[in-house]
Amino acid sequence: MQIIEEIKACRKSIRDRQAKGLRVGLVPTMGALHEGHLSLIRAARANSDRVIVTIFVNPTQFSPEEDLAAYPKPLEADLAACLAEGVDIVFTPTADTMYPEGTQTSVHVTALTDGLCGKDRPGHFDGVTTVVAKLFQIIPADAAYFGEKDYQQLIVVKRMVNDLNFPIEVIGCPIVRETDGLALSSRNIYLSRSQRHQATSISRALFSAQRNVEKGETSVVKIIGEIRTTIEETGPCAIDYIEAVHPETLKPLEEIHGLARICVAVKIGKTRLIDNLAVDATTASR
Ligand code: AMP
Repeated sequence: MQIIEEIKACRKSIRDRQAKGLRVGLVPTMGALHEGHLSLIRAARANSDRVIVTIFVNPTQFSPEEDLAAYPKPLEADLAACLAEGVDIVFTPTADTMYPEGTQTSVHVTALTDGLCGKDRPGHFDGVTTVVAKLFQIIPADAAYFGEKDYQQLIVVKRMVNDLNFPIEVIGCPIVRETDGLALSSRNIYLSRSQRHQATSISRALFSAQRNVEKGETSVVKIIGEIRTTIEETGPCAIDYIEAVHPETLKPLEEIHGLARICVAVKIGKTRLIDNLAVDATTASR
């Protein structure tokens, strides 16, 4: 496994492989790898000849009040996990390499970034799209793998790739959960024992909402109300949003008659957790 920090060397090593006719899959991450990330690596391996993982805690997607300095950086363990998964290249640039002095350009996707996490985290998605655009230039891979865990991010990146004609396929992968339903996240380690228990209410509420939609419930006010109650009754928390949105436009829905995505962001203590679930009213037994 090659570990590369420099941009030129990284691009060359991808191009060399592609010159041999090999298909390259890219998995961008911020490290602190868990089974969620590993599922992306496995999807990439299943669909590519060579896999490159990037580990870069991107400063531009954190606001000054957020947890950039405290973000976990277990690089040795991450490299060991990549090696065990048969990753071919790990790209670990420094912040100075990615954002040398004088940088002035950023990528902004409009409407899709207005709602959900875009509302609570101003500038976050500009940081995401800018760093992903840069990674796509540095690593001209054939396909890139993103988790549905960050559903809005996946849709925003797909839009950017389409709008800016990046020659790369963006593949969304399902959310990996703990056995009790909690979506895996690098931030789960911040949770105390009782907060960790409380956090299971998020997926429990989402799965219950999914069942209610399948039973014929169409009112988003009712669905959201029940999710809120389930989450709030487990303990103190601050709900940033609970919304049912169109799965592609991310526009909020008032009624669910077809496919929708229910998205939740909750702060438990200082830890902000996000989760989402696809619901399908067309399977409703009315
Ligand atoms: P991050 O390191 O948090 O930036 O995440 C890197 C990639 O892993 C993103 O595409 C995430 O959506 C994805 N990811 C994170 N957690 C999960 C999970 N529990 N299941 C599936 N994908 C995930």
